[in-house]
Parts: sequence; structure tokens; C-alpha cells
Amino acid sequence: MSDKSEVAGQILDGLRLMHSDPVCELNFKTPFELLVAVILSAQCTDKRVNEVTATLFRKYNTPEDFAGIDVHELERLIYSCGFYKNKAANIIKAATDILVRFGGKVPSTVEELVTLAGVGRKTANVVYAVAFGGQAMAVDTHVLRLANRIGFVRTDKPEVVEKALTAAIPESRWTEAHHLLIHHGRYVCKARNPECDKCTICAYCDYYASLCGKQE
Ligand code: SF4
Repeated sequence: MSDKSEVAGQILDGLRLMHSDPVCELNFKTPFELLVAVILSAQCTDKRVNEVTATLFRKYNTPEDFAGIDVHELERLIYSCGFYKNKAANIIKAATDILVRFGGKVPSTVEELVTLAGVGRKTANVVYAVAFGGQAMAVDTHVLRLANRIGFVRTDKPEVVEKALTAAIPESRWTEAHHLLIHHGRYVCKARNPECDKCTICAYCDYYASLCGKQE
């Protein structure tokens, strides 16, 4: 790509034609509920997380609740999200950390969020962007796949993708870009069978160009 910033802007405008108002699909009422939902969403669909949290949050939904919860009870409630032992441990650690170090309030900066036990950069970026309205480029599996397919990067390292995308996209569009890429990856540019015939950004996509090259 010759001018990544210009191309990135055109790609986002193209994606807007397909996904007019992409938003976070996890259900939550508070920043803490979102934090729990994002931890649960690793390697799991948002649909399944929403089913689990619909029951979970009726009984437990504050840092106090989760810091005091019996770990086996939490494991049982989140079992169907997968990796339930790790996720239960991380949720309890993060809740305890929020109580001890942040007075029971979820911190509102990425720098503070990543210091919470069990909270990585992707989770911190999502919470910062969605719960606090910040601008952040959270790199999940969809964003990673799309950035590589389009040809923006050639890497499996999320931190490299975040750096490349935030360098090319104006900060005012980071959160929008994150949602657009996730929606495109979830509904069109799927992992196994990307639906290139429906895609509005074929002209910018290396993967599509390689498909066309093979057909010639
Ligand atoms: S052209 Fe195909 S591979 Fe490229 S972004 Fe669109 S759906 Fe994905």
C-alpha cells in the first residue's frame, strides 16, 4: 500500500456501507459488568456470553459480589463459555484488585485497566472504548485476521496490528474502526469462508487480489 492512511480511510468508508452502525454486542449495564463479559468472551461467542450473563448478573454483578464468590459456584455459572477455570480465576482476581486498589470502581484508562489481574490489552481497550467512550483499537481474532487478509500487516502479533492500525487511522476513528472490523469479520470476512462476493472493500484486499490472480 502506498499511503496507508488514505487507504485506511477508504476501507473504513467502504465498511460503513455494509455495517451502518456497528456496536458492541455484549449486554451490560455497568463498566464492571462489561469487564466480566469481555473476560468471558475470549474464545467464545457474544451470543453465548449474553446467555450466561443474563443469569449470572441477576445474582452477582458488583466487584464485591465477585470478590466474595465461591470459585466453584462461579465456574459452574460460566462453564459453557469455555476455559471456565481460568476465566473464573481472572474475574475474581480482577474484582478483588478493583476493590483493593481502585475503591471498588473500574478504572477508566487503558494504563490502569491493564494493571488489573487477568486483564490484557484487548480487554482493557474494549472496556475503555465501550464503557468509557474512549478511542481504542482492541485487536481480537477478527481484527487480526482482517488486517492480515487486507494486507495491512503480516503478523500474528496483536500488539503489532494495534500499532499499525492506530498509526494509519486517525484517533477519532479508532473505536469505530474496531467495531467495523469486528462486524465485518463476524458476518462477512469469516475465518473459513469469507464472502468476498458481498464485500465492499475487495478493491483494497490482498487476499481478494490473490484469488483473482489464481482465476486468471
Ligand atoms: S474481499 Fe474477501 S477476504 Fe477481502 S476483506 Fe472482503 S471478504 Fe475479506
